[in-house]
Amino acid sequence: MKTCQNCGYQLDDYAVSCYNCGAPCPNSNYQQTPYQNNPYQQQNPYVPAEKPESPVLAIIAIIIAFFIPIVGFVCGIIGTVKYKASKNKTMSIIAIVVSIVMWLVNIALLV
Ligand SMILES: [Zn+2]
Repeated sequence: MKTCQNCGYQLDDYAVSCYNCGAPCPNSNYQQTPYQNNPYQQQNPYVPAEKPESPVLAIIAIIIAFFIPIVGFVCGIIGTVKYKASKNKTMSIIAIVVSIVMWLVNIALLV
């Protein structure tokens, strides 16, 4: 036996909805069988199966940009082309900006 969560009416274990008030019974096995969801659950893994992109290139590009701006600049360009994740793309752009800034700083120091 189980009890209706809505009105407290005593119900059989196999009841799908309350005999008294008609409220659906969440404990019912009939409602929890995921037959309808299965096709979607089987398709879903293909969609988010993409591995998260490694941000290593973008991080290295930013670090190198401080020391060897031209290399950081090139790595940043490669990153913006290669990366699809907006976070990694943004970091690549940061690497390009940093390398340009460092480049200008180096020139300014030389002059
Ligand atoms: Zn009820």
